[in-house]
Amino acid sequence: MSFFLCGTTLRAEVSPVDYVNPLMGTMSKKELSTGNTYPAVAVPWGMNFWTPQTAFTGDNWTYTYTADKICGFKQTHQPSPWIGDYGQISLMPVVGPKFTEQDRASWFSHKAETSTPYYYSVYLADHDVFAEMAPADRAAVLRFRFPETDSAYVVVDAFDSGSYIKVDYKRNAIVGWSTRNSGGVTDDFKNYFIVKFDVPFSDVVLLDDYTPVHADCKEGSHVVAAVRFATSRGQAVNASVASSFICAEQAVLNLKEVDGKDFDHVKSEARDRWNDVLGRIMVKTDDRRPMETFYTCLYRSLLFPRKLYEVNAEGRKVHYSPYCGGTREGVMYTDTGFWDTFRALFPLLNLVYPEVNEEIQEGLANTYRESGFLPEWASPGHRHCMVGNNSASVVADAYLKNVTKSDAALLYKAMINGTENVHPSVPSTGRLGASYYNTLGYIPYDVDIPENVARTLEYAYDDWCIYKMGQRLGRPEKETALFRDRSMNYKNVFDSDNNLMRGRNRDGKFQSPFNPYKWGDAFTEGNSWHYTWSVFHDVEGLAQLMGGHEKMGCMLDSVFVVPPVFDDSYYGYCIHEIREMQIMNMGNYAHGNQPIQHMVYLYNYIGQPWKAQYRLREVMDKLYSPTPDGYCGDEDNGQTSAWYVFSSLGFYPVCPGSGEYVIGTPLFDSAEIKLRDGRVLKIRAQGVSSENRYIDGITVNGVAYDKNYFDHDMIVNGGEIVFDMVSKPNYTRGTGPDSYPYSLSNENLTK
Ligand code: CA
Repeated sequence: MSFFLCGTTLRAEVSPVDYVNPLMGTMSKKELSTGNTYPAVAVPWGMNFWTPQTAFTGDNWTYTYTADKICGFKQTHQPSPWIGDYGQISLMPVVGPKFTEQDRASWFSHKAETSTPYYYSVYLADHDVFAEMAPADRAAVLRFRFPETDSAYVVVDAFDSGSYIKVDYKRNAIVGWSTRNSGGVTDDFKNYFIVKFDVPFSDVVLLDDYTPVHADCKEGSHVVAAVRFATSRGQAVNASVASSFICAEQAVLNLKEVDGKDFDHVKSEARDRWNDVLGRIMVKTDDRRPMETFYTCLYRSLLFPRKLYEVNAEGRKVHYSPYCGGTREGVMYTDTGFWDTFRALFPLLNLVYPEVNEEIQEGLANTYRESGFLPEWASPGHRHCMVGNNSASVVADAYLKNVTKSDAALLYKAMINGTENVHPSVPSTGRLGASYYNTLGYIPYDVDIPENVARTLEYAYDDWCIYKMGQRLGRPEKETALFRDRSMNYKNVFDSDNNLMRGRNRDGKFQSPFNPYKWGDAFTEGNSWHYTWSVFHDVEGLAQLMGGHEKMGCMLDSVFVVPPVFDDSYYGYCIHEIREMQIMNMGNYAHGNQPIQHMVYLYNYIGQPWKAQYRLREVMDKLYSPTPDGYCGDEDNGQTSAWYVFSSLGFYPVCPGSGEYVIGTPLFDSAEIKLRDGRVLKIRAQGVSSENRYIDGITVNGVAYDKNYFDHDMIVNGGEIVFDMVSKPNYTRGTGPDSYPYSLSNENLTK
């Protein structure tokens, strides 16, 4: 026994990526989601993700924590089980001729599984194979350690919606394409792939619909290649995989990302990529759990939207257009729904990763060029999902924070276009009901446009975003005034008898009977209690409609006090978002879905910030944990995660476009955010704990600070914010109108 190897020399340094648990949120099912995530093995914003596959093809809950068997390692682009996948292929190592998903599925244990963002491994018991994956942007390496056998196979599955495979003997590779898409693409959209092995294969059998085909290439409905090897015990077979949406030659070009690198090299590069982006925010506390929750949420915030573009032989960025077909110059990102992600995910990019959102904005301009519309839910092209025209928020917030470097005038034109038009075949793109909205000032309840109040409220906020961007662009007053005035349209669906938003008929009368607990109908995946707060840009105006600050405080309190009753008749069954509200013991507060996620912060607009501090800590402590059941609804492409990232730092962008972050309650002892040009923002929370959740005072760079919000311009300059945390509310701090965040109704008064 030797004693000299002890202490710090043996302790590997823990870096941000070591706190990430990609299995957080994977214990999900249709009826109840604890995230609806899968353990994405990827680099940040990578074009391809990889995941172990526990469900058979067609079941979009690709990986679920409670499953017993793995039937493949899948290259996936799925942003959400509700949207589905595209551009998918899978690889599966087996021993013996077990080629169907049912036959090849193997028992596995979470105890013999390692899941990180940059590396995944698992022991496949039925085949006695140890399988590993490591990612790059458009490529990956999979390593399979087989037992001693002459019938080791790697099954390459190009799936069942039309596929093609060819054996490339020269490269010791399988090449082909798959077309198992879920919409949002042109008819010729293909996922071209190459799978290159480092061990010579002894034989390849192609199958179509699992019937052997005696040929070296096959186009069919469901083509699979069974690539055979003779292996000694523990022998590794490495499969380098790359793909392209452009063509087969580009897929070979994309293979350069991993070609010639051994597995551990690819793994270590991916690990460094994650530490680079995760390390832009360094949080500290003695408790490991919130550290794990934080970095897992940050990882989920840095996956979507993903790159859809590739780099061609001349080194230029190009993409295959899902909108109009053909290879086009320039960048494009995809797989995000703005209805979710405008709220916190895009503001997070603007604050910490502006260079990424700069490129995303270029891609939005390209989407307008190629389709005549900005996207609302892209995967990879326009998809019919959700409501609103919240691309306006995504565009305006980036422009107003000086993130957008080119195409601002074109993007503004695209926003204006969206206020007058709806996409001819994708009605959630542009504005359904624009003519009603632009003439009546609301979308009536008694016309053939569902979820009309939700649309009216979101269009009104979107109009405010256009007003703000138009102002900065120096557009004529007449033009900006139109959108400023329209942004007050939220008032048209406010029912002062109930102090809630309510459907309104063409004749001006409110719809009846009115049930504020009814989900859907006039609202979207929520009820009136949830949607009444969707007046991001004019909370003061909403408070005045309710009869003042005290009344609004009662309404906010009531959300938590009323029982979790619901009416699900619009859907005909209890959708998972309703169930997730019902079971949390938080009344009608529904953090599992997006419409209400900013609500708690609104106490800051009415002089009751301590109530926000109390509730926010409850949500952070209760509804997030670094475990398979760690989210409280759909994670939704970074939005529900970005909520935690901001909230745990102590502030949140209630109204993207306003340039303000409303103060909540910090969770960590300290945090450091690396900003542009080497600037650093330090945050300290003196004495913070679950009990000491109230803010007694704040200093900014040593000077006492009495506002309930921080300005973006102040934050990006760096410096130090110190919160003084105590166990009892401070009933005087942040209680005067000078402390309140931006509201349009106050624009000409105080700002
Ligand atoms: Ca959602």
